Amino acid sequence: MSDLPVPQDVALATEPNRADHLGQRRRPNVWGFVALGLMALGVLGAVAGAGVVADRGTDRSRMQFEHASSEVGAKLQLAIQRQEDLVVNARARVAADPTITESEFAGWASLTTVFDRYPEVRGFDLVVIVPTKDLGAFIERASVEPRGQLRPDGSFELSPAGERPFYCLTKLAHHRRNQVTPIGTDWCAANGLSIASRDSGTSTYTPITIGADTFLTVNVPVYRAGERLISVDDHRRAFIGWVATVSTPQLVLEQAARSYPGLIVSMEYASSESNVEFASGPVPTGSDTSTVELGNGWTISTFANLDDASLLGHRESRSALLALLVLSGAVAALVFVLGTGRARALRLVAERTGELHHRALHDELTGLPNRGLIMDRLDQLLARNRRRGCDPSALYVDLDDFKNVNDSLGHEAGDRLLTAVAARLTSTLRDADTIGRMGGDEFVVLIDGDHIVDGQTTQRSPELVAERLLAAMSQPFDLAEATMPLIVNTSIGIATGDRSSGGELLRDADVALYEAKAAGKNRFDVFDPEMQSGRVRQARLESELRSAMEGHQFWLAYQPIYRLDDLTVVGVEALLRWSNPTLGVIPPDEFVPILEQTGQIREVGQWVLHEACRQMAEWHGCGDTLDLSVNVSGSQLSQGVIIDQVRSALHHSGLAPTSLIIDVTETSLMRNPKVTAARLHAIHDLGVRVAVDDFGTGYSSLVYLQQFPIDCLKIDRTFTNAITTSRGSRTLVSALVQLAMDLGLTTIAEGVETTDELDLLRSANVSDAQGFLFSRPLDAMTLETQLLIPMRQATNSDSDPRV
Ligand code: C2E
Ligand code: CA
Repeated sequence: MSDLPVPQDVALATEPNRADHLGQRRRPNVWGFVALGLMALGVLGAVAGAGVVADRGTDRSRMQFEHASSEVGAKLQLAIQRQEDLVVNARARVAADPTITESEFAGWASLTTVFDRYPEVRGFDLVVIVPTKDLGAFIERASVEPRGQLRPDGSFELSPAGERPFYCLTKLAHHRRNQVTPIGTDWCAANGLSIASRDSGTSTYTPITIGADTFLTVNVPVYRAGERLISVDDHRRAFIGWVATVSTPQLVLEQAARSYPGLIVSMEYASSESNVEFASGPVPTGSDTSTVELGNGWTISTFANLDDASLLGHRESRSALLALLVLSGAVAALVFVLGTGRARALRLVAERTGELHHRALHDELTGLPNRGLIMDRLDQLLARNRRRGCDPSALYVDLDDFKNVNDSLGHEAGDRLLTAVAARLTSTLRDADTIGRMGGDEFVVLIDGDHIVDGQTTQRSPELVAERLLAAMSQPFDLAEATMPLIVNTSIGIATGDRSSGGELLRDADVALYEAKAAGKNRFDVFDPEMQSGRVRQARLESELRSAMEGHQFWLAYQPIYRLDDLTVVGVEALLRWSNPTLGVIPPDEFVPILEQTGQIREVGQWVLHEACRQMAEWHGCGDTLDLSVNVSGSQLSQGVIIDQVRSALHHSGLAPTSLIIDVTETSLMRNPKVTAARLHAIHDLGVRVAVDDFGTGYSSLVYLQQFPIDCLKIDRTFTNAITTSRGSRTLVSALVQLAMDLGLTTIAEGVETTDELDLLRSANVSDAQGFLFSRPLDAMTLETQLLIPMRQATNSDSDPRV
């Protein structure tokens, strides 16, 4: 920079020289014109270049907007599906017991903990049709019901008022406090229910006007259980009423739009009876719009103000314009100075060299020292502290989920946030501390082991520094792109003490950071050598796994699955095992995630499919008829080749496709639902069944799962274990099984360990179960001698008349 020493020859060359003097007098005009010409050309080029950048920036904003819009649309659809699940669940309860009382209904509803889980839901109603002649009796009954929802003065007010041949009125309800649907609300006249749905049996979602406000209702007709429902008359005869949820549209929309600051969402309903629009906020004028048709009269629109497409409206094009103008100015100036004097040119070169030197060591965005300079300072810090006998510290500071900011608000906003973060971190530290940016959203703070206060040397506490940094970062950031102040959480890893190199101290701080993230983020952790051993083990496993396949170290264990009706074995689940010659048997929970990270799961998964099918085909050859469940991970499903792998395993083994069930976890279905559904359909078309593993741990919408070809739900171990201790879990499992049965799915309870669990699962009508109570996973030979051979003998003696 300007304080760099000017080279000797520059100083000498600035001495006046007669010949140059004369030359300078003659030449500036010529060089001035040349420079001006170059400048003019440069301006034209800069405008054209910035135009291209502006177009690209606008395209990118548009794509981000389209992406956010379709995600918001999908979230809204899911929110509605969630409510469909609720009403379908409630329907099962009412259909099973049409004489259910108000308090039984409320008791059931409160067990679903719906109000805790879904803030948008105001309540459930069971709505029945009341012909005009029965209205008096209905009002009388309502006045003695515990609910006592007549108006405070005991009167009953129809809404909308007027005489009609029949009314659709709430018979039973469970609502949030102060969010009760008034008892006189005529759901059909308020357009919340269509009488046509009684005859068709379909669920609907519509707006409903209650008093002065409009809400959203999702409802489904309820019929007496066990009735034949084919014709319209069948439906009318068996009809009990409708179960409906009422929810606040504003909350539904706000939730869907929550992760997309700046985006406004509206839902519009248009039908012959009504035209209603809900929006998550005021629609910005002149904004860009994206619209999705949801069907049933609903349209979802999203609005946002995209960047101005003009050259100056876009930060990138502004920067490009400026950069190109500066460049052409610099070239023109260089030509001018080269033409006008060597001295000025050399000074310019010196300045540029200084600037380049600074740039090489500093981060362009934040101006902080970059990785190179930090590593240099770190080595100096270690050497200095070693001389003084103190322990220096390195703090690795990393923003939590910064990617979300980039994804939802764009890279410019991300850059602006990083600059603000750098400024805030810097202002929280003391002058003696060093802070640098390592790249991305990672910063490093270096702290000397001692510092001087009032002339006294004291030890510095890196934990205190980390606490101060976390406190500073917990204050929200204001970004122009976000509608609300942004909370950016931070995790910090600390390493303290002498090391043989700066890189080592930083690596330990990074290990501690990793622990802080794993322990829930928004916190700091101090490096402990034990953390390293976890990492070392992971690295060791990773390297050992590379040769595990070739070394034939994998094998399969089989856990029997029992039918609960008669406690006979109906199938086995193949479970992968890894025996390493030096490390012993390693559990799959430890090594399957590593196989997934490294991509090796595809090769190993293919082996599992082949080996399990081969073994089962062999057992079938001995007369066994068991089903085989094989686990297929999310990363296997993310590859189209899985279809061929399943086909080839069946082909090579000769196992009947109907004997194979593949277990896919609920969370892996969520990843890329469209593509995954298509792959599962292709596998299902082969005759193979599909089971949802660990059901209940991911997203619990059965309606959502209906897009996949699913035959079986495996109820997660946590639910199985909870049913003996919590009544709520018991009710949930029963409702789940009932719903699964309605959808034609079988259910398997995983991890059954006690007879109490078994009894409760049987009374909840769960079809099958596996768990330590029956048998642990066994190697093929043990399974055969302990279970299969005795079963074959029992079958033979049953069929042999001589025995
Ligand atoms: P999972 O699919 O949920 O498998 C059931 C796990 O529950 C097995 O653990 C089994 O040993 C364990 N288990 C069964 N009954 C009980 C019980 O009564 N109590 C308790 N506490 N546990 C019980 P395992 O064999 O350790 O497998 C763990 C996970 O590793 C599996 O969970 C599965 O997600 C994965 N895995 C195993 N084999 C494979 C494979 O071949 N491919 C893939 N992709 N994943 C596999
Ligand atoms: Ca499984």
